[in-house]
Amino acid sequence: MHWIQIVSAILAGVSFLILLTGAIYSLREKEKRAAGLFFGAMIVIPVLLLIPLVIGSEVIFIVWGGLEALLVLGVLSFVLPYPRGKRMTWDKPVKQIDERTIMFSRNLLKEGTEAYATYYRLYPQHLEPDSHFRKFPGLMSSEARYFNPATFYAAEATFNVIEHLRDMAKGKPLNKKTAVSAPELTRFLNQWSQKLGAVSFGVTRLQEYHKCPSNAISFDDPNEIEGITRWQINQEACFTLWKKIGTDCGRCVSVCPYSHPDNLLHNLVRKGLRQSAAFRKAALKMDDFLYGRKPAPKKEEEWMRVR
Ligand code: SF4
Repeated sequence: MHWIQIVSAILAGVSFLILLTGAIYSLREKEKRAAGLFFGAMIVIPVLLLIPLVIGSEVIFIVWGGLEALLVLGVLSFVLPYPRGKRMTWDKPVKQIDERTIMFSRNLLKEGTEAYATYYRLYPQHLEPDSHFRKFPGLMSSEARYFNPATFYAAEATFNVIEHLRDMAKGKPLNKKTAVSAPELTRFLNQWSQKLGAVSFGVTRLQEYHKCPSNAISFDDPNEIEGITRWQINQEACFTLWKKIGTDCGRCVSVCPYSHPDNLLHNLVRKGLRQSAAFRKAALKMDDFLYGRKPAPKKEEEWMRVR
């Protein structure tokens, strides 16, 4: 047997196994489009690679030898730690966010109370957007657009439990401050959230097709906000949509390539993302190809349909 035929057989076998793994994981994740593409590639690519075993001519050996060398070099260029690409900068926030200004706190303010009057005296610019969101039914409301009795009432019950547990929490806030650098703390929070079960953590460039239904995500260049050059969600626009639909939206989270489940397939991709900028570019294109540029919202599970 010619050595090109041996290499072709090995590459066909390896690519078949990799693509089969992708197809099985996609089926388990109920990603039909990705599963179909993996199954299709699982047939086409190994068949193409096996051509030198069927047509044993010198010309085929030369052409396939060149193509296979390019294929192997291409794969290696994605897994080698080069080029690393742009590095993140670690800026320190100059002040802490005032938790009274976040939408959940503002949502709790009741007209006619002292807290309400005090808040809007301090932040008069929030009165108009807040009066607007208050016109809509609200989170877990039976009047909201996506009302579903089982899931809405279950979510409400969970919030109620948290409310009751609050009184049981012991301990006083620590008055002592600990000096810690932003990169160190970010690394800790990243690892800690993964230890607690977060699937992953990452940053991606915003694309037009990430279209937020409330236009709350900026497409402009990052601005300096509280001493840091960054983007900030328009929290009023986002929360107003939540009040209309009665639940959280989360499209930005579901289309993010970092939101895939914690399993071998996606963890290998995550390892590659850390390694090389070329892999990051290719992975983003593959993500669009496999899952679609505008992935349709997943249907609710059958057991959630309690009418
Ligand atoms: S949760 Fe929905 S509305 Fe809010 S920022 Fe994300 S995509 Fe936009």
